[in-house]
Amino acid sequence: MGVSFYNFNDLHHADFKAIVKERIENIIDNNAFVEGEFNAAFEKEFAEKQKAKHCLLLANGTDALEIALVVHGIKHGDKVGVPGITFYATAEAVLNVGATPVWVDIDPLTGTLCPQSLERVHQKHKLSAVMPVHIYGLPCDMDAINSFCQKESIPVIEDAAQAQGTFYGEGKPVGSSSNLVTFSFYPTKNLSAFGDAGCILTDDSELAKKVVVQRNHGRGDEQAMGRNSRCDHMQAAVLHAKLPEIDKYNNMRKVVAEKYHKALANLPVRTLPEKYICLSSWHLYPVQLESVETREKLMNFLRENEIGCTPFYERAMSQEPALSGYEGEDENAVNFAGKTLCLPIHPFVSDSDIEEVAGKISEFFNS
Ligand SMILES: *Cc1c(COP(=O)(O)O)cnc(C)c1O
Repeated sequence: MGVSFYNFNDLHHADFKAIVKERIENIIDNNAFVEGEFNAAFEKEFAEKQKAKHCLLLANGTDALEIALVVHGIKHGDKVGVPGITFYATAEAVLNVGATPVWVDIDPLTGTLCPQSLERVHQKHKLSAVMPVHIYGLPCDMDAINSFCQKESIPVIEDAAQAQGTFYGEGKPVGSSSNLVTFSFYPTKNLSAFGDAGCILTDDSELAKKVVVQRNHGRGDEQAMGRNSRCDHMQAAVLHAKLPEIDKYNNMRKVVAEKYHKALANLPVRTLPEKYICLSSWHLYPVQLESVETREKLMNFLRENEIGCTPFYERAMSQEPALSGYEGEDENAVNFAGKTLCLPIHPFVSDSDIEEVAGKISEFFNS
């Protein structure tokens, strides 16, 4: 028995592998190693799917965040709002362009950036940009964030690394906001390459041109220096081959999340609000325990029973040793991070897996 945190074997089934093998053979025969036909095909289809004008493939999701900051002109001396709970890459990108992260607190029920905290932090620190993260796959409150940022002329960069399959609302996929929206296609993400890849979505043709210049050493603009963040043709071929199945897999995750919600309803774990069942990509399935101590004990108990679970994110950003000393608000983030445990979620979690996970959690609390 046991339930694993990831399942790549069912995702990369024989028919899919056959398509990829054929594509890779063609890539080798045609010597088309970077930025080939599948890059262009993926960019076109992914932009259409997420309802954005442009998609620019890049080498990874962290580069996407950094390049988004660079094309918005963010530089040394600028302050950028970063949510108190995210994966380090969001804050790392800010530091890598020479700017300073300022923590914005999170909503205690969802873990996503709190618009009221953003207003307070901006008043005090005068932000040059803000980076809401659709953490776990939950959409941030973009209506509130966008209307405040438009009023204050603050560029918004959405970190959607965990949010392929997320919707702001019905018929509005993440990427359709006209902000710069960044994705990672790291192997564990909902839409994933066989290595590293990422992209930026935007409706702004001028910013899109700048991204193209940035990803290829500044070529195309004599005044600009850039970097190498081109996406390998092989990764683009894999991503393009996955597109036809991605909605099916994201819907399977939603069904798993709904079943977890029901199975856990009478246990002392707090699940994310019900209204996100259809909106979230369910990249992760976090539950909140009553204390840090309970989180640690439950995590150990589940792992002893071969149930994969991970404390994403173990600490708030402000508590990371490498990120200490930056200002902002973080009270809810510290509280939320300490009590969160993520249960196994992927498209192939079965009914009996859910029963086993819920059964073990029940056993933990009743023994
Ligand atoms: C994975 C992830 C990233 C970084 O993506 P890479 O492709 O690993 O560089 C950035 N932000 C968040 C929220 C992520 O989950």
